[in-house]
Amino acid sequence: MQTRDVLAWRASVAGSGVMGEPAARGRFGEYGGRYVPESLAEACREVDEAFRGAWADPGFRGALTRLLAVHVGRPTPLTPAWRLSGELGVQLYLKREDLTHTGSHKINNALGQALLATRMGRRRLIAETGAGMHGVATATAAALLGLEATVFMGERDMERQSLNVFRMRLLGAEVVPVTSGSRTLKDATSEAMRHWVGTTDDSHYCVGSVVGPDPYPWMVREFQRVIGEEARVQCAAELVTGVPDHVVACVGGGSNAAGTFAGFVDTPARFVGVEAAGGAGASGGRLGVLHGFRSLFLQDDEGQIIEADSIAAGLDYPGVGPEHAHLRDLGRARYVTVTDDEVLGATARLARTEGILPALESAHALAWVIRAAGSGELPAGSTVLLTLSGRGDKDVSTLKELL
Ligand SMILES: *Cc1c(COP(=O)(O)O)cnc(C)c1O
Repeated sequence: MQTRDVLAWRASVAGSGVMGEPAARGRFGEYGGRYVPESLAEACREVDEAFRGAWADPGFRGALTRLLAVHVGRPTPLTPAWRLSGELGVQLYLKREDLTHTGSHKINNALGQALLATRMGRRRLIAETGAGMHGVATATAAALLGLEATVFMGERDMERQSLNVFRMRLLGAEVVPVTSGSRTLKDATSEAMRHWVGTTDDSHYCVGSVVGPDPYPWMVREFQRVIGEEARVQCAAELVTGVPDHVVACVGGGSNAAGTFAGFVDTPARFVGVEAAGGAGASGGRLGVLHGFRSLFLQDDEGQIIEADSIAAGLDYPGVGPEHAHLRDLGRARYVTVTDDEVLGATARLARTEGILPALESAHALAWVIRAAGSGELPAGSTVLLTLSGRGDKDVSTLKELL
């Protein structure tokens, strides 16, 4: 993209407020909000006030930046995917969240919220987890800052991701099996919220994505913004065009995508969020309220939430963060789906061409790039920034069964 285009675009969006603070009562367009009982509404107000104070405090920002540097390993590299780019005919750059401590972008948010919890005088973190990555990140942040951690996890996910259960316990966290409903992430989230009601005085609920009641969607995006801001600077140094033509990320709740998009919202880069075909809240959901916020959720004709189902447990959420629903309505981002088979193909291809084994979640984003390069939807020579949200170590046993 030419500098002149970037400047023109910037002028056109200046003051539009896209990906800024949400409107009153945590609204992103018609989505978002705070649909919780009064006891939790008060707790959310406290989190909101504490976060606003912390985010405006250079002392807090500095402490978090330092922790992200010395404990997480930030900034993460921007890796040109040389061989795969040659095969696809596009210039593909990978933002390497897979290289963070604990192996996914979840740690950026968990550490931010853990630091906020200590500022609020809380001594315990509560979290929900699906694949276990957010649980591991929360347990890690808690250990680092001397907090306790209680992680709710569906019984079925505990069986599927037993290694992460063991990791969390090694880190000193209590893992509570959730036996209700389908025994997966949706039920674990409900249970974590229920548990928070009785423990708001001493516990902070550390939500793992850009979902939940206000201020979580906004706050989590701000803690993940570091991905996009680093990538923006790295692209400026690395790309001839300075800004990529396309910015692509996988979407479960949408936190790695939101953090990445936030760094490029004032540029003409096109945003693509890639969902699992079986967990496509943004592409296939309908308006509803769940877990304290209004957004797009997979529902049947009677409005019952349909269970998400994909090869990647981290994308098994039946909804999408409210800001993504809004970005879709605005046409600022578009949301597409890929199948499990495409994901398996993309995983093996990245491993063989670049020596990088991606998380199955991240491989969704790559699967779309491979398809779009093949169909010409991504014209030859396009520059593409792809956030590799995590590493594939946790998925090796799944891959062993399927490949
Ligand atoms: C949890 C997870 C995701 C999905 O979460 P988002 O909030 O949509 O980013 C994606 N990739 C990995 C590796 C994860 O652990």
